[in-house]
Amino acid sequence: MHCPFCGANDTKVIDSRLVAEGEQVRRRRECLACQERFTTFETAELVMPRIIKQDGSRQPFDEEKLRAGLQRALEKRPVSVERLEEAIAHIKHKLRATGEREVKSLTMGEWVMDELQQLDEVAYIRFASVYKRFQDLNEFREEIERLSREPIKRS
Ligand SMILES: [Zn+2]
Repeated sequence: MHCPFCGANDTKVIDSRLVAEGEQVRRRRECLACQERFTTFETAELVMPRIIKQDGSRQPFDEEKLRAGLQRALEKRPVSVERLEEAIAHIKHKLRATGEREVKSLTMGEWVMDELQQLDEVAYIRFASVYKRFQDLNEFREEIERLSREPIKRS
């Protein structure tokens, strides 16, 4: 790590802590040459796979977009921000855990549905009806029936 003030190579870490719910490491460093202090943030975000859209284009994973999609589905539903953030953390964990450099947006959509199904059935149906673009009313009805048969998994 080069010092941003003098460019020296030798810096020492004087403080290190997890931030953003453990997603980032914040390090306070001091330059051994000029004694200036600065802060770095290290994050695993860089190794997030890219998302393959249905038209074949690739996009970087966009957490804000994911959050907005979940929030839309959860609008006016009794689900806390904490549980929403947990769901996002689960999805990000799955993304990283694939070890793939690229993941299909369809796969991510399935993961979102898994999470919503556990959070709130109404939100799940909202999301699924847009996402799966149910071909007809029967297909939609079948999905609702399947839901009512399957016990909701709690993780
Ligand atoms: Zn320096």
